[in-house]
Formats: sequence, C-alpha cells, structure tokens
Amino acid sequence: LIVDQRYDLIVIGSGPAGISAAINGVIRKKKVKVFGISDLSEKLTKAPRIDNYLGFFGVSGMDLKNSFANHIQKMDIQITEEKVDAVYAMGDHFAVSTRLNMYEATSVVVATGVSIKKSIPGEDVFLGKGVGYCATCDAPIYKNKVVAIVGYDVHAEEEANFMLDVASKVYYIPMYKPIKKIREGIEILEKKPKEIIGDDHAKKLLFQDGELEADGFFILKDSVDLDQLVPGVEIAEGHFKVDRHMETNIPGLYAAGDCTGKPYQYLKAAGEGQVAALNAVSYLDNR
Ligand code: FAD
Repeated sequence: LIVDQRYDLIVIGSGPAGISAAINGVIRKKKVKVFGISDLSEKLTKAPRIDNYLGFFGVSGMDLKNSFANHIQKMDIQITEEKVDAVYAMGDHFAVSTRLNMYEATSVVVATGVSIKKSIPGEDVFLGKGVGYCATCDAPIYKNKVVAIVGYDVHAEEEANFMLDVASKVYYIPMYKPIKKIREGIEILEKKPKEIIGDDHAKKLLFQDGELEADGFFILKDSVDLDQLVPGVEIAEGHFKVDRHMETNIPGLYAAGDCTGKPYQYLKAAGEGQVAALNAVSYLDNR
C-alpha cells in the first residue's frame, strides 16, 4: 500500500460530473487527483447523437468526449486508471483505496455514475459460491486453480494480471474493446457469457457457442454498490443522499452526477460536479 501524498480533493469518476469537478478544483488551485478511465465514460463514447448539451447541438458522444479530453489535457489534468474500491472517512481526511494502492485527501467528490450492466443469469445464485466481484480479494482461495474473469472495462485487466500469479490458469472474457494490457499466459476468450451453471457451487460459464469450466468466476463491473464504496454514507432510493451543496451526510464528502439521482443527463452531471467541487473548495478553505 502506498500513500504518495495528501490531495486536497480526490474525484472518483471521469464522466461529465467528475471531469467538471476536477476542472473547477484545479481552477481554484487545489491539488486534485481523478480516478476513472482514459476514455472518460462509456456513456459518452456510446451515445450516437446528443441534442441537449449546451452549445453542441447534434454532437456525437465520441466528439463530446474528445472535447472534454482536450479540455482537461489543456489544464494538465490526468486520469489515474485505477478502480476505487472504498472511501473511508478518517475524521480530518479520507482514505481512498484502490486494488493496489491507498491515497489520502482532505475532501472527496464521488461521481461514479450508475451501472446499466445487466447481470449474467446465475450470477446472483452463485455469488459467494464460486462467483465473486473482487478477484484480488479472493485470490488466495484460487491458488493453483482455474479462474475465469469477465471484465466489463479496462480496470478489470489489473485484476486478471494479478490473478495470473496465483491461479494455475486464467481465462479473460472482455466485454469491451480494445484490450489494453493483458499479460502473456492469460487466455482471452472473445465470447458473450450466457449463463453460469453449477450445483452447490458454480461450475461452468456458458456461451452462445460453447462453455468454459473453472473453479472460480469473477464478474468485474465498472461500478461498486454505493454504500459498499463509502461505508457509513446515507443512501436514498439507491442514490447518494445530498443537500443543495452536493454534500453527503459525511462532512467533506460530496457526490455529483447520475449517482445522486435522476434525471440522468450530461449537463445535470457537469453542473453538479461544479457545485460539488466549489463547495469542497469552501470546505477546504474554511478548515
Ligand atoms: P458517467 O458518465 O457514468 O461516468 C462515471 C465514470 O466513473 C465512468 O467513467 C466509470 O468508469 C467511472 N467509475 C465508476 N466507478 C468507479 C470506481 N469505483 N473507481 C474509478 N472510476 C469509477 N444524457 C444527455 O443529457 N443527453 C443525451 O443525449 C444522452 N444520451 C445518452 C445515450 C446513451 C447511449 C447513454 C448510455 C446515456 C446517455 N445520456 C445522455 C445520459 C448520460 O450519459 C449520463 O447521465 C452521464 O454520462 C452521467 O455522467 P456521470 O459523470 O454522472 O457518470
């Protein structure tokens, strides 16, 4: 575990909410770190046409994403491609843990969006019985065993690469393109999972054409349950409960974008990111 330095503000999520929060934090001269993906957000890159983003009538999601990427590049804001597993309130600061590292910040903006990924039939039945959501956490159980990892975004690659040191065989089933960095020795299967079957324990992953036997199956999605992500945070109807300052029940912890509730829209997300960051700045300045 490494704590490199204490940040003023850690932003979790690189969609419009997170990017907007980061930009506003940097403009106010705060030391900001952003976690997410270099492609910013799948919900941006996959949108065919957007008619309601102010000033960008008819833009494609990819073009809007490129404009955002250009904006942060000009401001020298980098995205750290690590998935955040948990945010712990430590009193005067927050500890932000990723798979391999621990970071510290005085304030945090959570902008993780909401998951639209459907589960694989059987996933819930076998959860904890051969199906897991954190490969690095459960790695010791699969020493010298066969493991299949279904990865929904680039963050999952880190876990598959880690598993290779433990398991006797690792299969990687990517649900996105392109693959970035999978270690040699991992077998990549470009197939769409249909169902997980077994008896009292998961045994096989079925595809449209074929099946895969393994001792353990990991389904690595881009999102974590909100109350699991931030222990002690108040949730209302599946979203972070925030006030008009976008502050949660934990002082110094803000939320923005889809994760605070509907409407799920880019401009609402970007606006909330700004409100959250500017209030985080006030929080920092008033300490
Ligand atoms: P997201 O854009 O979902 O970004 C969240 C980011 O956080 C992602 O990059 C994710 O990888 C990252 N993340 C999540 N968890 C973690 C973690 N634990 N650690 C690190 N990073 C993490 N809205 C409109 O206003 N107009 C439209 O025309 C429109 N069209 C759409 C078309 C499609 C196909 C889709 C899917 C959505 C569309 N939307 C549209 C809705 C819009 O995409 C969302 O409301 C918006 O993207 C929300 O932004 P966000 O920043 O809250 O979250």
